[in-house]
Amino acid sequence: MEILVIFTVVMAIIILHEPVAQWIGKFNERRLHKQFLAQETFYHAVVSRYFKYYNRLSLQEQRRFLFRVFLFRRIKRFHYIEVAETPEMPILVSAVSVQLTLGLEKFQMNYFRDIYLLQDDYHYGFYSRPFQGHVDHSGIYLSWDNFLKGLKGITPNCNVGLHEMGHALAYVNFITQTEEDKHFKKEFKNFSKVARPIFNAIQEGTKTILGDYAGVNYHEFWAVSVEVFFENPIRLKHELPELYHAMARLLKQDPLEVFLHAKMAA
Ligand SMILES: [Zn+2]
Repeated sequence: MEILVIFTVVMAIIILHEPVAQWIGKFNERRLHKQFLAQETFYHAVVSRYFKYYNRLSLQEQRRFLFRVFLFRRIKRFHYIEVAETPEMPILVSAVSVQLTLGLEKFQMNYFRDIYLLQDDYHYGFYSRPFQGHVDHSGIYLSWDNFLKGLKGITPNCNVGLHEMGHALAYVNFITQTEEDKHFKKEFKNFSKVARPIFNAIQEGTKTILGDYAGVNYHEFWAVSVEVFFENPIRLKHELPELYHAMARLLKQDPLEVFLHAKMAA
């Protein structure tokens, strides 16, 4: 008799586990979406003020974008180091990450719980040159002044937020392997077939739109490519078309297409 009860319970757990997990997942999503709706207007106001990229998206994509910003921000701890905190800051930082990963399935970068915001350039480790941002096992670090300059388009081709999120995305997929996006990981091999020869040429002294810093190592090449892909897509597509298309396939989005749709809709 006891065996029969245990057997029935075990079978019930096996059979019901999946639907119950799905139901809990759906319930959670609905609950989070409700929370998000209460803040959507504020999120929209903040993001639309700084992100040309966001303003070019369709209404439906804008809502998806903002919900992802909300979910990303929700699971991060923001630390403000000698910088005055404002309610906009965590939203803007989250939005940069969401921009980069909008075409991908995985976007939360769960491995990184902590994001540190500093006022300006800072010194880190044994390096003599000052840092604008960096990523390591302890978190994502950004200098706020430089971050804002990047958002406002004051520094051509430079966007430290996108740059560091580029490092963070590679980190969770290849170093910690904690949040692997199947498409991103698979497609990165194809991206490298195009990108490696360009990187090698830069190391040998060829000048490109990516600049000399892209030749420091392959990590920096990747992060700089992310910046230029979003900040200067027209020139990148013109000068390095193969790299541009490889980036678009890898990230499953095309900044110029977004632009064209917006133009057609206008
Ligand atoms: Zn870097």
